[in-house]
This record gives sequence, structure tokens and C-alpha cells, in this order.
Amino acid sequence: MKFELLHTDGAARRGRIAFPRGVVETPAFMPVGTYGTVKAVDPGQLLASGSQIILGNTFHLMLRPGVEVIRAHGGLHEFMGWHGPLLTDSGGFQVWSLKSLRKLDEEGVEFRSPVDGDLVRLTPESSITVQHHLDADVVMVLDECTAYPIAEDDARTSMELSMRWAARSRERFDALKGVDSAAALFGIVQGGIYPSLRHASMAGLGEIGFDGYAVGGLAVGESESERLAVLEALEPAMPRERPRYLMGVGTPQDLIRAVARGMDIFDCVIPTRHARNGQLFTHNGKINIRNGRYRNDTSPVDPACSCSTCRGYSRAYIRHLQHCNEILGSTLATVHNLHYYHTLMAEMRDAIEKGRFDEFASRQAEHGKGADRRP
Ligand SMILES: [Zn+2]
Repeated sequence: MKFELLHTDGAARRGRIAFPRGVVETPAFMPVGTYGTVKAVDPGQLLASGSQIILGNTFHLMLRPGVEVIRAHGGLHEFMGWHGPLLTDSGGFQVWSLKSLRKLDEEGVEFRSPVDGDLVRLTPESSITVQHHLDADVVMVLDECTAYPIAEDDARTSMELSMRWAARSRERFDALKGVDSAAALFGIVQGGIYPSLRHASMAGLGEIGFDGYAVGGLAVGESESERLAVLEALEPAMPRERPRYLMGVGTPQDLIRAVARGMDIFDCVIPTRHARNGQLFTHNGKINIRNGRYRNDTSPVDPACSCSTCRGYSRAYIRHLQHCNEILGSTLATVHNLHYYHTLMAEMRDAIEKGRFDEFASRQAEHGKGADRRP
């Protein structure tokens, strides 16, 4: 993996990550492929929507179908038919979401599989091993996602545990990595909403040394101003020459504000989940396609959009499909929302290159206000 920083505009960055499987122009958005599929769309539709890299969920795939099945195909790319770059998470966030099902100690985390009730243990070493077998282009360290709200002392204890796990993850990754492997390993900055802990986390990870740095433990219930304050405090401490990944964020406005604070790549279920629920993003704001006002609407979802959904189908047709629970209704909506997100990222890249990112962001904020007033 090779990262190049091409332009900056304030803290906003325009970069390029080259993998043997393809190039990712940043800022970039990664659709989430939970069970070895980005729900409702196939790899051809992902590519056509502008997807450059997608995310796979280690936790779900290790439980179903199990890593051996995927290994038998030669890895997750071959299993799911996606041949571009692929990032896998560590599984830690999903375990953390189970709450009542987990037992956490120095060694790792133990939980009952929500699939069959079996006792499963996840350690930094086993997470890295599974991701190695999935043949991910970007592997994530196992960390503990710090809860919110949390006292500073507890946030420190949690961050320090994540740091020891990061070192163990690095060790296992290096032991497994073949000489010709181009896989990258990213560390994850923790520390809750406390700037001094975030700085300590970044410094510790930097000492271990990673190919990229993610910001974890956000979008877990904190206010937007708390989240942005963390990013603002952290940004100057993050190495310029490494990609920065803000995990689990967010809405179009969230992405713009995070790019303004120096973040490069993002993942979130919002565009795909919203699509299946009838929430479609347009240049005039978000619309609920199931609303009665679209019953006879022969216009496309977004007249300013060039995706295959907007070129081929009307609002009334997509509304009809979703009301009848037709599978195609989810597919067409997902294609459009992903295209909207990827177009937004491309517009941000362009604005950064032209030195007009602030202007772009304030124009988009005006659109955002309009969207909120719409049904
Ligand atoms: Zn469209």
C-alpha cells in the first residue's frame, strides 16, 4: 500500500492510496459489506456507483459461513466476487455491541455466538489471523471501543488495554505477512472525548508504527460538537504521510465536517440502510420515497444525478416497488444512495484541489438545512 498526499486546503486533504488491487482516491467512502455483500447490490453495481474500496465485517464472517469456507475460495475477494481493495474490521466493535454477551480480560474477549450460542474467543492474534485468511488489503487491529459516557480514568484504562492489543496485533500481523504481501495494518486511536488521552493514544500507536491510523470510539452517542472537538484536537498530532480513517461516520454533513478536519476515509451503513428504508439523498435534500406525494411522480429521484436508477426509473416506480416489498426497490435505491455519496466525495476532492473547500462546505450546509425541513 502506498499513500500520496496530493493537495491540502486548510486541514482538508486530497490523497491517493494505491493497492495492488486498485487505487483509492481520497477523501473516499467505503460501503459496508456485512455478510460478504453490500446489501442489495452486486460488485458490478458497486463499481458502477463509484465504489473504490469496501468494508467486510470479520465478526459476522467468522461466525457465518466461517473462515474455512472463505479460505477454500482463496479469500474474501474471490468468495464475494469483489476484486477491488477490501478493508476488514477487527470484529471488536460488534463484540462490544453485544454487551451482555461478553467477558473482557487482558487476553481478549469472550462471547456467545448470536448465531448458535457457541462460546467464541477473540484475541488480537486471532482477529489478525482471521483477517489474514480473508486476505484483506487493509487489516485493523483489535481494540476495545471505549463506551460513552465514561469517566476519564476508565477511558485511560480502556485506551491502555487497546494499546497493548495494538502491539500484539502488530506482532501477529508481521509474523503472518509474506514477503510479497502488500497488506496494510491500521492502528486505532481511542481515548473517548478526552484530548490528552487521544494524544497519548496517537503517540503510542505512532511508536509501534502503522500503515494508517483510524479514529475509533466516535459516533457512539457523543454530541456532534464533542466529536468535532476530538478531531480538531487530534488532527495536528496525526502523521501527514499516512491515511486517516474515521470509523462509522456518517451523514453527508458529518463527512464534510470530518474532511474539513483532516480525515481521509470513512465507512457507514447510512447510505445503504437508508436506501432500504426509502430514505434517498438528493441535491435538494433527503426525501422519503414512500411518501404519498411521489405516487404519481414520473421524475427521477434526483434530476441532477447520473446514476442508472435516475436514468432509468421514476420516483413513482421506486415508491411502488418499496410499498410492495419488491427486492428491486432496495437495489435501485441503494445504487442511487451510493452514487450520491461517491459523487459527494468526488466533489470534495475537486474542491480541495481548487482550494475552495470552505466555500463548498458552506454551500452544502445550506442544502443540508433545506433537507431537514422536507418530509
Ligand atoms: Zn441517482
